[in-house]
Amino acid sequence: MRFAAFKQKYLTVFGSIALSIGLALSAPSSAWAMFYGFNQQAQAYEHEGDNLMDTGYYEQAISAYSQAINLLPYDAVQGRADALYARAVANDVAGHFDQASQDYSWARDYYLKAAQYANYGGSQAAEEGLTGGYDANFGQQLANLVRWRATVNPNSPDYFVDGGPMKAWSLRKMPLKVYIDDSQGTGWSQDLRDLIWRAISSWTNVSGSPIRFTQWYRADDADYIITRPSSSGQIAVGSGGFTSGVDEAQSENGKVMLKQSKSLLSCPGYDGSGYSQIDRNRLYNLALHECGHALGIGGHSPSGMDVMYWKAPILKLSDRDGATLRRMYSQ
Ligand SMILES: [Zn+2]
Repeated sequence: MRFAAFKQKYLTVFGSIALSIGLALSAPSSAWAMFYGFNQQAQAYEHEGDNLMDTGYYEQAISAYSQAINLLPYDAVQGRADALYARAVANDVAGHFDQASQDYSWARDYYLKAAQYANYGGSQAAEEGLTGGYDANFGQQLANLVRWRATVNPNSPDYFVDGGPMKAWSLRKMPLKVYIDDSQGTGWSQDLRDLIWRAISSWTNVSGSPIRFTQWYRADDADYIITRPSSSGQIAVGSGGFTSGVDEAQSENGKVMLKQSKSLLSCPGYDGSGYSQIDRNRLYNLALHECGHALGIGGHSPSGMDVMYWKAPILKLSDRDGATLRRMYSQ
């Protein structure tokens, strides 16, 4: 599902804002058409917005999502929730943080209405919908997100506090041994391994970084393992990334230290010859983002201009990404 794929970009076991959704959309009945707003023109605008986001035209994407929202009737509660959510992300990525907060709140309100309709035919209070089984995971995450957004500052010099909790690697372990899977079943061909290596190396090249990597050719004693979900794997193909970590038994200076990290990067497959430029950019972005978690960033940045925002499509670490890493490793 496009909406599902769009919403679910990054997953992290560290993160408190891991968004996920599994929306089963059956053939549209008239009730569902009202619920979703199957308006072809609105869907075309939303699709255009998604493409504009993928190609870096954020302001134009905001306009396209606004057109979609304007075309959807007010009772197309799920459709409006999805379009407002998409515009919230676009506003964050474009740096319009206040508009993004507003859109997230509106998306949440429409989502609650959708949950209410789906569970109770509108007969219960909207909040009840969240616990009624209808996509409750995403609804609760969105509600948490709106609350969190009210307490964080996307303009602060770093997101050390907002994006916590933070863990760290002992500097005695540098360079970290990085294994990028090369198997047919769960790895990548050489050109894609090179792409992933370039992406994660951004974290070693950023000014003042204490992180060093060395390529490692087996998984068993690697510090950081990067692999692709198998077809029956842990995350759905096309859905995003997932990073997990194993902690050392002993903390250092009150910090939880990492013993091993593992990132799963969802992507079209082993062989890069079948990848479009957008597929390559997505894999690069995913490797860059998940590596931030692997280095100890527990949550997400509230600014869509940072790689560690939960859905940022950008390909270069921001000043705030670099400042956050330096602060994590200086205390
Ligand atoms: Zn993440």
